This record gives sequence, structure tokens and C-alpha cells, in this order.
Amino acid sequence: MGGCYNNSEVTLISKVAEKGVSSPQRQAVSIIPDFSFLRKVNEASGENITLCYQCRKCSSGCPVSFAMDYLPDVILRMVQLGLKDRVLNSSTIWICASCETCTTRCPNEIDIAGVLDTLRHMALSEGKAAPSVKDVPKFHQAFLGSIEAGGRVHEITMLRKYMLKTLKSSLWAKLWSGELLEQAKLGWGMFKRGKLNIRSHKIRQTGEIKKLFAKSRR
Ligand code: SF4
Ligand code: SF4
Repeated sequence: MGGCYNNSEVTLISKVAEKGVSSPQRQAVSIIPDFSFLRKVNEASGENITLCYQCRKCSSGCPVSFAMDYLPDVILRMVQLGLKDRVLNSSTIWICASCETCTTRCPNEIDIAGVLDTLRHMALSEGKAAPSVKDVPKFHQAFLGSIEAGGRVHEITMLRKYMLKTLKSSLWAKLWSGELLEQAKLGWGMFKRGKLNIRSHKIRQTGEIKKLFAKSRR
């Protein structure tokens, strides 16, 4: 990918493979960069993304990079360039499993896992999500909601909230594709093995957890 600045607009040359065309075609696309994006991500994450020099050690160690639309090093480069919409609409920030392999490999000590977490929260607050992973932010919210309520995840409550959020828009699609039946079978299998508790067990100091969540929203 090459690029050049043109006053308020940046023009990127990207390769796109078109149906029926044997070799990739070069296509220019215009994107309006947000030059404050890098500063905002640096401030919110506490990291200095400017230090990234694209060595790609992060991406080469990522266990789920095969499923991402942009590799982690590309996400950091796009943050540097102010390509906010592309970053916040990428599947990468939701595919990331927060394993922190990238963070431990970075020679510049950038906490890439932490940066991706910051980007997830930015995407949530702006209501953005890549269509290919549109249910993942809802799972993320149900997971965090469960921790906020009891200090630990209660799987049944979390799954009920997640199902209510997702089924509203896709009940028939999930019924028709058999996904709902598969999920019910999986849930029953976990229940039989004692992996799903009906009763939730809260920690003693849930007030402290709530304070942490409130602080993170400021
Ligand atoms: S934290 Fe995310 S981006 Fe980093 S290596 Fe793990 S899965 Fe990949
Ligand atoms: S490992 Fe660090 S310096 Fe290298 S590309 Fe990834 S973020 Fe940038």
C-alpha cells in the first residue's frame, strides 16, 4: 500500500482483485484522515504509538492474525495516519483475543493488546463494528456487564443478555441456519458437565468493581 497527502485528503493506492480479472487492479481510494486520532489513542491507551517502526514482530506472533482483516502492525500504522474510520470499522479489534503475545514481542515496548482494547472502547462509544463481526461487540458488552454486576462472569446471565441483544435482529436467520439449535446443544452439554451454574456467585466487594467501571467511562 502506498500513500501521499493532499491538503485535507489522503489518497491511498490499494490493490483490489476484481471478479473476472486475472491480475490485481490498482485502484485509488480517497480517505479523509483524522489527524487528532493518533493523539486521542495515545492519551486513552497511555502508549506512544509513534514509536512503532513497522518491524511486524507483533503480527508475526499473533495466533489469530489469519482471521483479521488488517494485521496488528497495519492497525498501528493506520492509527499513525489518522485513518480512524478504517481502524474502528476493522474486524481486527474484535478478533483480538487479548493474549498479549504482541505486547511481549514489541521491541519498543508498545502495549499493542492495550491499544486494541482502547480501540474497542472507542468503536463501542461511536457505535461502530465491522459487519463480519457485528455480534462480537454485543458479546463483549454482555461479558463486561456480567463482571460489573458481580465481580466475575456468570455464564448463564451473560449468555441470556447476549442472546437477547442478538436475537432481536436475527432470530429467523439463526433459526433457519441451525445456529440456535447448535448453541442450545452446546449449552446443554456444558450444563450436564457442571460448567454452567444456575446460581451466580458474586464477590464480596462488588462496589469496588463498579467504581473501576465508572472510572473507566470518564
Ligand atoms: S493480543 Fe490480540 S493482537 Fe496481540 S497477539 Fe494476542 S490476539 Fe494477536
Ligand atoms: S512489534 Fe512494535 S514496533 Fe514492531 S510493528 Fe509491532 S507495534 Fe510496531
